Amino acid sequence: MDEFSFINSIMPRQLQQPSLIKGIGDDAAVYKASDKSDQVVCVDTLVEGVHFRRDTLSPFQIGRKGLASNISDLAAMGATPAYYLVSLAVPETWDEKELREIYRGMEELATKYRMDLIGGDTVSTPAALVLTITVIGQVERTKARYRNAARPGDLLFLTGYAGSAAAGLELLLKRGRTATFSEEELALVKAHQEPSPHVEQGCLFADFAGRVALNDISDGVASEADEIAEASHVSIVIEADSLPFHPSVSVYPASQQLDWALYGGEDYVLLGAAAPADVKELKERFAAGKLPFFEVGRVEAGEPGVFLRQNGQLKKLEKKGYNHFQKRR
Ligand code: ADP
Ligand code: MG
Repeated sequence: MDEFSFINSIMPRQLQQPSLIKGIGDDAAVYKASDKSDQVVCVDTLVEGVHFRRDTLSPFQIGRKGLASNISDLAAMGATPAYYLVSLAVPETWDEKELREIYRGMEELATKYRMDLIGGDTVSTPAALVLTITVIGQVERTKARYRNAARPGDLLFLTGYAGSAAAGLELLLKRGRTATFSEEELALVKAHQEPSPHVEQGCLFADFAGRVALNDISDGVASEADEIAEASHVSIVIEADSLPFHPSVSVYPASQQLDWALYGGEDYVLLGAAAPADVKELKERFAAGKLPFFEVGRVEAGEPGVFLRQNGQLKKLEKKGYNHFQKRR
């Protein structure tokens, strides 16, 4: 059994609450909160040795990144962050000062996005540190954006560079976080250590009147595009030559850049799809806000799946997302 069929097996067959709009199956759950707004909620767990390592991230950065990845899930729904809760399972190998640093990291982002810490839990554990963060955000009624909104004929877009965080991780794994990096390398290292979730961009999509499918890049462009393809029952074609890379990534061999972008993940930019006329308008709105926006492919009718067009050839991409249950065996 893999992680995905496990989640499928525990999916409630019957729902009790009429206010629920979206349960399991997207970056976050959505339910009606009032006549004006819907609430958006999600939870993510980070495990030491699986999601982060102490030789690549400082305790401050672990906290900051944990909250960043959760905020990114809210951004992918078009929601504005508001609250967070933190559950910590702490082994003996961590001292109090380091734990406070984790909170300082979260606080930095929380202050930026005007979020309040409103609860959590603290327990001990025999093994690795486990950090579980729940975030709550809001969005104007019916304005949340979903993975299942892509339609044949749509254009696919990204709101930032792909592959930078994976390139940074490779540098960190080779040399450790206390090494000296060039200015170019440091941009990639920081992309891995201190990502910025695209909250402003997410809100721009929520405000937009047209239909937009949205997902965030936590697992790599291939896997996130596949989630849109599966949810929307469409086929997605990514143009290899259109994928946007940070200038510091562009110096690496093309095949390496592509691998980082498609399978690296943790870039926390947004991947989406919308009709060509709407993409034109979105592009203008992003330009007006001085925000990057890149067309990277298109959506077609067909079996759910993701294809890469490179040198005139079409290749089906494997589902290479991180499957936690398989990794464990
Ligand atoms: P993501 O990669 O965006 O974090 P996941 O693959 O973790 O998404 O989860 C897919 C969906 O399944 C989400 O809606 C998530 O809330 C839900 N989910 C994941 N694990 C569980 C679980 N153990 N119990 C209930 N729902 C879960
Ligand atoms: Mg998850």
